[in-house]
Amino acid sequence: MSNIQYLTPGPTGLYPTVKNHILNALDQDVCSISHRSKKFEAIFQETTENLRNLLGLPDDYHIFFTGSATEIWDRIIENCAEATSFHLVNGSFSKRFYETARELKRNAFRFETDFGTSPDVSEINIPIGSEVICFTHNETSSGVSMPIEDINKLRARYEHMIAAVDAVSSMPYPKFDYSKVDTVMFSVQKGFGLPAGLGVWLVNERCIAKAKDMQSKHLSIGSYHNLLSLAQKGKSLQTPETPNVLGIYLLGKVAGDMLKIGIDKIRKDTESKASILYDFFDKHGQFSSFVKNKNHRSQTVVVVNSHMTAAELNKFLAEDEIQIGSGYGKFKESQIRIANFPGTSIETIEKLVEKLKKY
Ligand SMILES: *Cc1c(COP(=O)(O)O)cnc(C)c1O
Repeated sequence: MSNIQYLTPGPTGLYPTVKNHILNALDQDVCSISHRSKKFEAIFQETTENLRNLLGLPDDYHIFFTGSATEIWDRIIENCAEATSFHLVNGSFSKRFYETARELKRNAFRFETDFGTSPDVSEINIPIGSEVICFTHNETSSGVSMPIEDINKLRARYEHMIAAVDAVSSMPYPKFDYSKVDTVMFSVQKGFGLPAGLGVWLVNERCIAKAKDMQSKHLSIGSYHNLLSLAQKGKSLQTPETPNVLGIYLLGKVAGDMLKIGIDKIRKDTESKASILYDFFDKHGQFSSFVKNKNHRSQTVVVVNSHMTAAELNKFLAEDEIQIGSGYGKFKESQIRIANFPGTSIETIEKLVEKLKKY
């Protein structure tokens, strides 16, 4: 393993303890044990318990594992929207969530705001028949984070709808009030600093009831990863298919490491590191923070307008063994994105800023 610090918004650098956990996993034959064995059930239990404690997840929430967060976009629509979904769209990932619903032949409505902004939720009116409201808490393409109060405020006006939140590039940082949303999902190669290939789906009873209702009407809710089969297998600490056992094991271990540090400290450190970055870019002549409204600035993915491309900057940063991300899509050449996930130390962020001062 090199010493390069990958401050890229996914995949990203591994959380510092991951290498050791992988070595231990190999020692314990984690990659070869049966997913129907007691050993696997113990791993499932440890991982879900640690996540529940870390995130402050209430008992009435289930934790399910999938192949990716992209898969969960599909599953949310298939299991929670019989006909109609509503989407807040402000960038490439939220747009993709919307398009997923269209591809699954739902009536998908959207409220779209400019790239780099978050909507004024008091202006949003959701079509009456919508069954699910799809939020993207952290729009990884633009570096916009929707304040949790805004999610709760909009949802409060439409309590009969299911509130679904994509928090892929912000978890475990956001402190959701899980009684005000119904499902939250993420993948592990972002904030948890783990190898890609595992999606985590947090689901309350309301979503399960919705899937049951659809099934009773003989509607399709998908196959092996529908909510009912996930819930049925989950009861016995198992998964419907042969899962990413190594990924589930590593997630449990890293969630355990984070629990030892404490989520409050992780949140505070995230904010301190983000403010070092935003302060630097706000004052710099060659760079500027892309998101103008400070209330909407992501604490975990910092997006910056830059005269230099990420590729150019990375050649220079390579001397200090740091790499940053490029802009997303059509902003590839004109923006850079810096991941500020829990695995990155304050020292690394300070080192990056000092190095950029010399460019
Ligand atoms: C990365 C990302 C996804 C997709 O995650 P995968 O693990 O690649 O499926 C979805 N939503 C957001 C906001 C993301 O940043």
